[in-house]
Amino acid sequence: MKPRLRILLLEDNVADAELVLELLQAEHFVCEPIRVQTRAEFVAALENHDLDLILGDYTLPAFDGLSALKLALTARPDLPFIFVSGTIGEEVAIEALKIGATDYVLKTRLSRLVPSVRRALRETRGRIERKKAEEAARRSEKELLEVIEAIPAMAFTNVADGSNAWANRQWVDYTGLSVQSTSGLGWQATLHPDDVDDHMSRWQQSLATGEPFESEARHRNANGEYRWFLVRAVPLRDEHGKVRKWYGTLTDIEDRKRAEQERERLRQLESDLAYVSRVMTMGELAASLAHEIKQPIAAAVIHAQACTRWLCRDVPDVAAACRAASATVMDAERAAGIIDRVRSLYRQDTPKRELVDLNEIIREMTVLLNDTANRNSVSIRATLDPRLPATEADRVQLQQVLMNLMLNGIEAMQGKGGELAAASGRTEDGQLLISVSDSGIGLPVDKSQRMFDAFFTTKAQGTGMGLSISRRIIESHGGRLWASPNTGRGATFQFTLPPT
Ligand code: ADP
Repeated sequence: MKPRLRILLLEDNVADAELVLELLQAEHFVCEPIRVQTRAEFVAALENHDLDLILGDYTLPAFDGLSALKLALTARPDLPFIFVSGTIGEEVAIEALKIGATDYVLKTRLSRLVPSVRRALRETRGRIERKKAEEAARRSEKELLEVIEAIPAMAFTNVADGSNAWANRQWVDYTGLSVQSTSGLGWQATLHPDDVDDHMSRWQQSLATGEPFESEARHRNANGEYRWFLVRAVPLRDEHGKVRKWYGTLTDIEDRKRAEQERERLRQLESDLAYVSRVMTMGELAASLAHEIKQPIAAAVIHAQACTRWLCRDVPDVAAACRAASATVMDAERAAGIIDRVRSLYRQDTPKRELVDLNEIIREMTVLLNDTANRNSVSIRATLDPRLPATEADRVQLQQVLMNLMLNGIEAMQGKGGELAAASGRTEDGQLLISVSDSGIGLPVDKSQRMFDAFFTTKAQGTGMGLSISRRIIESHGGRLWASPNTGRGATFQFTLPPT
């Protein structure tokens, strides 16, 4: 399509005007000229017409080119103005260019007209597009700020050095600070003194690396009270990847923080309580401990006496004496082992996580409880999965759980005897599964859930703490502990633990 050119032609000479139009039309411009000669006509044309270009003569009988230029610059600053004159001198022409004329073409050298017009149109188009783009950018920035102003959160932008460039109304309202006093590094004054170091070092780290920023810190409100906030900021980069700005939000996490602190307090309380309840069972334990170790000590005495007898014979039987002495050592070691283990169960240690082989713990407990089992005519059978993976756990706590379950099983078979079966394996979803099964009296009717409550016991000498502590230990390891009645006699207690 041929370019359409709406020209305001300030020219008194009809022949010159026609020449100019012919030149342009020869170059395929479709001209729509408005020719004027006076100031009034010129002003009216500027006001009333869509125009692409002004071509102005410098000297006119009733008007002058420079005045026309000044009027045009005020009314239509984007419109290119080219002087086409026979009389304009170089100095005046330069002056006109300084004021804002686009170009000048001498009537004696009209061959320059078309290239000059083309360039002027091109430059004007470029200028208008740039302006539009700038306006669009300004508008979208303004819209963005309006959105940020409207969101129900505190928001800010920082310039690349980390100082605060702008903060939204929510923030200003919260802090009670003016926009000026919160700008620069002024916002730091709202930080709780205990949080300043950590918060600022994280911020400096993000500024240095360009990594997104995240920190939890207390900020002071207008009443001087502090609330916890999660502060997050992400960098906005230019096309070369250089950080231009940071955009950030502050989310009020006071409620969450309080809940966390409350949970921590409860956890502490629970651990204190567990300790107290363990101490309460201490007396009982002392009695059963005495009972447990009496047997190996008595055995040690018997073996030591036998040893003495073998040695005191007329012909000492050294080999038999050695066997008896070794048996004495083993008995004494068993007694020491029992004391060690029981003591470790009742130390108030924070849980220690290490790789634990559950098969090994079952074997240990089988050895440890062997005598108790024998006294009650109970045989212990362990069926262990040799491929059982290790689990990350507190060894002493797991010993405590197995000891509780196995002792309960033995006690359930008291007087009648039977078999205690401990087994290790895996569930379908890969959890470690330990079961302790007995052929005893079976679970208390209607009370199988209450068994796991603290102080629930059906035994004359019971404390009712074993199962509740055991369940808590297993759950704190991410597992589950439950009981079910056997189809025949007795009950089965099972627990799961996650593999490493
Ligand atoms: P305690 O053994 O001191 O009573 P526990 O918390 O270990 O404390 O057990 C609570 C109760 O659960 C027991 O008194 C008993 O009624 C029941 N119980 C535990 N283990 C078994 C079992 N293997 N067979 C039947 N009942 C059991």
